[in-house]
Amino acid sequence: MSRASLPSGRASRGTEGKGVSWLCYNLSMENPLLRSIVNGLKDYLPGKNPTEPGVIKLASNENPFGPSPAALAAIKQEASRLQMYPDQKSGALRAALALKTSLPEDNFICGNGSDDIMQIIAAAYLNPGEKVVVSENSFSVYELVTKLFGGELVKVPLKNFQQDLGAIAAAVDTKTKIVFLTNPHNPTGSYLSKVALESFLKKLPPTVLVVIDEAYAEFAEAPDFAYGFDQVRSGANVVVLRTFSKFYGLAGLRVGYGVGPAELIAPLFKTKMPFNVNRLAQAAAVAALDDVEFLTKTAANNRQGKKYLYQALEKLGLKYLPTEANFIFIGLQIPADELFLKLLKEKIIIRPLTSFGLPEAIRVSIGTEQENARLIAGLQKTLI
Ligand SMILES: *Cc1c(COP(=O)(O)O)cnc(C)c1O
Repeated sequence: MSRASLPSGRASRGTEGKGVSWLCYNLSMENPLLRSIVNGLKDYLPGKNPTEPGVIKLASNENPFGPSPAALAAIKQEASRLQMYPDQKSGALRAALALKTSLPEDNFICGNGSDDIMQIIAAAYLNPGEKVVVSENSFSVYELVTKLFGGELVKVPLKNFQQDLGAIAAAVDTKTKIVFLTNPHNPTGSYLSKVALESFLKKLPPTVLVVIDEAYAEFAEAPDFAYGFDQVRSGANVVVLRTFSKFYGLAGLRVGYGVGPAELIAPLFKTKMPFNVNRLAQAAAVAALDDVEFLTKTAANNRQGKKYLYQALEKLGLKYLPTEANFIFIGLQIPADELFLKLLKEKIIIRPLTSFGLPEAIRVSIGTEQENARLIAGLQKTLI
C-alpha cells in the first residue's frame, strides 16, 4: 500500500482530503457508514483491573488463587509449538470433556471463552427479526449477540431477584428463536432447580433453543441444582455453556465450551471462526480439568468464604442474597457507584451493578480468607 493511499492525519480531522469524510463526525455523532444497529450498541463495561500492588479485585469473579498450576505447566510445554495453527475443532479438549462428563465428543464445541459461543450460536440460529428472550438485570453479552444479528430482544423482569421461568415461558411466541438462562444467575447468585427447569422446558415449542449459561455451575452446592447436562442427555433443545474463566482460573486465556445434542452442535462448527481457540488455551484447559488439588482447594475456599461473608454481612446489617456462585449480591440504600469509589480508596475493587440496571446494589466476588476479611473491614469503614 502506498503512503498516499493511507488517510492522512489532516484529512482525518475532516478539514481536507478525500475518501475519509466520515471521520469529520465527532464520536458522539452517528457514523453513517455503520450498520444501523451498531449505533445502538453499548460498550461492554468490564470489572476494573488493579494497577498498583496491594489492591484486591473482587469485581469479576475470577479465581482468587490465580490460574490452575497444571494449566500453567501445560502452557509452557505447548509454547514451543506455537508456529503451528491450533486444532480447529479442539479435539483433545473435547475428548477430555467427553471423558469427564460421559457425554459423546460430538456434543461439545469449544470457544474463545463462552462469550464466543454465544455469538457462534446467534450466528447459526438467529434470523433477523426473530425474538430472543432474556431476563432483565442479567449478563449483557446475550443482548449484544442478539442485536448483532438483528434479533429482537425481549426482556423479562426478575421476580424476587430470580429468573421468572413462568413469565419467560409466557413471553415465548411463534417469533421466538432463543431463550437465554443463567444458572447460577449473575449477578444475583440465585439458581434454577431441576424440577423448575424441567417443567419450563416442557412448556416450550420445539422451535425454541434454550441456552443455559452455566459459567458458575462448578460452584453450586444446592442438591436440587439443575445441571443442564441432564437435559442434553435427554435430547432437549438446549445448549449448555461452561467456561474455564471462573472455577479454573483462566479468564485471561479465553476458553469455554458449549454442550448440546449433536444435531444442535454440529452447525456451530460452520459459524465459528476456524481457529477460535488458540493452542495454549486448548492445552491449558485439558490440564486444568485434571488439576484436582487446585479445583478442590477452589471449591472449599468458596464454601468457607461464603459462610464467613454471610455472617459478616449480617453483622454489618447489610442485605445480601444467598448464592450458588462465587460472588454475593449485596443490596444498598446508597448509590453503588459511590461505594465503589470509597472502597477503591481502601484498595478494594468491587462491582457496582449500575450497568446491570441495579444502581443501588453491588456484587462482590468471594476471595481468599484474607481478601474477604479486607472486604468486610472496608465495608465497615466506608458504611458506618
Ligand atoms: C463470567 C461469565 C461468563 C464467562 O465468559 P467467558 O467468555 O467464558 O470468560 C459467561 N456468562 C456469565 C454470566 C458470566 O458471568
